Amino acid sequence: MPLEDLVTFFNEIKEKDYRAKQLMQWIYSKHIYDFDLMTNFNLELRSHLNQNCSLDFDNAIRNEISEDGTQKWLIGKKDNQIIETVFIPEEKRGTLCISSQVGCLIDCPFCATGHQGFNRNLSSSEIIGQVLLARKELDEGRLTNIVFMGMGEPLANYPEVIKAIKILNDPHGCNISRRRITVSTSGLVPQLYKLSEEVGVSLAVSLHAANDELRDELVPINRKHPIGELLDACWHYADRQNLRSVTFEYTMLKDVNDSAKDAKQLSKLLKNKPAKVNLIPFNPFPGVKFKPTDQNKINDFRNILLESGIMTTTRKTRGDDIQAACGQLSGQVMNLAKKTLRQKLKKTLH
Ligand code: SAH
Ligand code: SF4
Repeated sequence: MPLEDLVTFFNEIKEKDYRAKQLMQWIYSKHIYDFDLMTNFNLELRSHLNQNCSLDFDNAIRNEISEDGTQKWLIGKKDNQIIETVFIPEEKRGTLCISSQVGCLIDCPFCATGHQGFNRNLSSSEIIGQVLLARKELDEGRLTNIVFMGMGEPLANYPEVIKAIKILNDPHGCNISRRRITVSTSGLVPQLYKLSEEVGVSLAVSLHAANDELRDELVPINRKHPIGELLDACWHYADRQNLRSVTFEYTMLKDVNDSAKDAKQLSKLLKNKPAKVNLIPFNPFPGVKFKPTDQNKINDFRNILLESGIMTTTRKTRGDDIQAACGQLSGQVMNLAKKTLRQKLKKTLH
């Protein structure tokens, strides 16, 4: 629970507001996950907490470490699902890539998570649990940034993701500054407007195509919220949150979206806007029909954008030897477990 909900919780049992901060300090600063060890709570309160609350997080069933230092944890859930969390160490920062759903409904054809189908949303507790697990396993101070770029579409699980963001950002929680938290979305426009009234996290948007015809295929949510509508929401977000730029992710798919014409079309959309582009080399996985664009061609594409004054970087592929690179997370998702729910949710999305 974020601070505000904890305050309500404590007030309901006739305890003062400050209990909420005390509890958060035990969990997030002192890493104590046992109410009996919380010595500034009296016995009665400890007993109430023990009887009514749980304080634990799922452990990893496997931890894989890549040659480049990237780590991937497979986290088993009680309902036999497996989600994945990835830590990417760099010289000046350490980024944890967390999952927000078991699977994903958006169904982008170039993404392993999309191929797996969808089972359910993660709770805020399961989302924060991934961060607590990483903090437990990593040396103090190594984890500096959080990206919602693991399994799932974070804005399709809006209420739980917002709670998690508040806990991540809270000085009594994980104390990570808002700009070091990035939400990556395939483009759920109404939720983007809602997000623009919240904490002010960094925003990454999975564009992958510069015209609606192609984006309808690559990111099917585009059929409901086309590019024009999506970009308007992005500019609104940047303006409202005083963000220097929104990052547009563009996975380079050979002979699909990587021509000079595509680059020019993209430049036209983003020129003179608060935008930067992150080109992502496509990471293949078994059963996928797409191929990665050659490095030379990625450079040509980047140069066209740079010539239009658009800040453009190419993402380094990390952890591909342990299937931890972008779009390779697949966990273990029982797609058919909730078929009717899946159909219902999909109808509301597409
Ligand atoms: N669901 C969210 C966040 C998760 S994916 C989203 O789509 O934004 C993080 C990024 O990796 C997204 O831009 C996604 O489109 C991209 N991606 C997915 N599959 C990929 C693959 N196989 N190779 C490279 N990038 C991929
Ligand atoms: Fe879902 Fe993102 Fe994968 Fe698309 S790219 S299927 S939105 S996780």
